Amino acid sequence: MSASAEAPRGRRTRGASSSPADVTVIGGGIVGLATARSLLKAGVGAVRLLEKEASVAQHQSTHNSGVLHAGLQYHPGSEKARLARSGIHAMISF
Ligand SMILES: Cc1cc2nc3c(=O)[nH]c(=O)nc-3n(C[C@H](O)[C@H](O)[C@H](O)COP(=O)(O)OP(=O)(O)OC[C@H]3O[C@@H](n4cnc5c(N)ncnc54)[C@H](O)[C@@H]3O)c2cc1C
Repeated sequence: MSASAEAPRGRRTRGASSSPADVTVIGGGIVGLATARSLLKAGVGAVRLLEKEASVAQHQSTHNSGVLHAGLQYHPGSEKARLARSGIHAMISF
């Protein structure tokens, strides 16, 4: 698949190339970068990250309040509450 050929308004998506990839992650914010890192660590093969800006993390991921949410607003025992708590530990250890 050539993502660059499908990019809107004639823009070439950064990272696009003709080299093969086993997995393509679109978007170089914290979610895309963390996903790509996890995939590489899991040994899935070649991972391609496509980012439309000149460098990664140009949007929300570098324009937030930096708060690690404790999940207090979520229903006790819910998946969101559990993930919020485990996410804090994962972020601190990272
Ligand atoms: C004002 C504000 C304050 C916040 N405060 C907090 C906080 O205190 N604590 C907290 O946990 N969260 C906070 N958040 C939320 C948090 O920042 C976001 O949930 C998180 O950064 C989202 O990451 P992301 O990777 O999904 O998105 P982004 O960081 O926006 O990354 C998306 C990336 O995808 C790229 N992209 C988009 N379309 C394409 C395309 N077609 N092809 C290639 N690349 C593309 C963009 O250029 C961008 O680099 C805040 C958000 C905002 C806006």
